Parts: sequence; structure tokens; C-alpha cells
Amino acid sequence: IKSIRLDKFLSNAHIGTRNEVKKIIKEGRVSVNFEIIRNPDFHVKLDDIIELDGNRIEPHKNVYIIFHKPSGFVSTTSDREPSVLNLIDHPYLNELHIAGRLDKDVEGLLILTNDGEFTHNLISPKKHIEKEYWIYTKENVEVTQNMVKMVSEGIELEKGTKTLPGKIRKVSEKIISLTIVEGKYHQVKKMCISLGIEWEKIVRVRIGNLTLEGLEKGKWKELSKEEISKFI
Ligand code: URA
Repeated sequence: IKSIRLDKFLSNAHIGTRNEVKKIIKEGRVSVNFEIIRNPDFHVKLDDIIELDGNRIEPHKNVYIIFHKPSGFVSTTSDREPSVLNLIDHPYLNELHIAGRLDKDVEGLLILTNDGEFTHNLISPKKHIEKEYWIYTKENVEVTQNMVKMVSEGIELEKGTKTLPGKIRKVSEKIISLTIVEGKYHQVKKMCISLGIEWEKIVRVRIGNLTLEGLEKGKWKELSKEEISKFI
């Protein structure tokens, strides 16, 4: 098993900066397998029991946060505009990235993670992971055979860029569902414009088999790798 320095283990686990955790170790507050260790250079293995003030510290891990984004927040760090990152309070926040952004005025399912490979798979069109958007319309808009055909055959957004086959269906009087497997810039809005759909609100309701069910607007939840793997 791989071993790492105790101070590195603790800073990776977001206990503090490297200097802060060195100080904590020297103060005798850290134990390894129930023995106080005052040497920051002591090497630990990932299955060792490491405690700070008697509380078990879990090793650094992959984090998956699912968030029900409200409108009015941007999916980046910004000084000028309210960011979704201000709505999530998590010790790993500074190392998380957003796996598939949403526009400021778009609501719905957002995933934040520190797992680059997961994100790569999620946003790669080759993996065909479905993203379903509900388009709330002002009027009752019918989904015609022609619209179904356009979406399934692909729509040219810009010269030379065509969308991959998607699905469109009517959900209720003022809701249309659009399912796509990629995330080009403003893709849903551009597709709506091509299809002649005027939207009032756009909500991402599903990524893979993961839905907004049980997640109130503005709320987030952490999932383990095992948990999220069941859905995506
Ligand atoms: N398509 C859009 O136009 N905006 C989003 O935020 C997501 C998909």
C-alpha cells in the first residue's frame, strides 16, 4: 500500500494548510493507530486510523455534489455576479469543478466534483449520457412530426456544427422535454430558436438516470462514488 507523509495526508483531507497541520501535529493533537505522532514527516498508509483530537480523519476522496441550481446564479467564480459556488458550503469546494455548466437563467441539476475522469465521461458526446431539459413555454406549443424529425436528425446550430440525434416530446400543456447527449454552448436555447419554441424557463431535470427528485431548489447533497455510479 502506498504511504504518504502525515502532514500531507491531513492537508489533503482539508484539515488546514501544510504549515497549519505541521503545527497541529507538533502540538501532539494527532494520533496514528492510537499513538500520538509529533513528526510531520511520519509516513501513513491509507488504511491507518488517523485521528485529530480523537476524531477520525477520512483520507482525501472523490467528491460528487448534486445541486438544484436556481436561476440568477452563474456557474463560474465571479466577483460581479452571484455564483453557484456561494450556495455550497463544503470543505472540498476549492478543488471542485462543475461537470457541465448551466446558464445564469437556467435552473436544474448541476454536478460538482473533483473527479476529472468522471467529468470527462459525463460531458463527452461519445459516451451518450442523456441530459434532459424541460422547456416551459408561454403558450401551448405542439410538438409536430417535423420537430421530432429535426431533433432526431440533428439541427445545424452554426455553419458546420450539427447537434447529435436527440429526443423531443410534449410533457404537458406548457412543458416540452428535450433530451440531448452533448452540451454545446447555449445548445438548448439555440435548438429552441431553430424549432420556433419561445421559452419562459429552462430546467435541466435529468443527467443519465439522476433526477432532481427529492432535491429542493437551492439545496445540494453529497453522493459517494458508489452512489453516483448507480445513476450515471
Ligand atoms: N443549453 C442552454 O442553452 N443553456 C444551458 O444552460 C444548458 C443547455
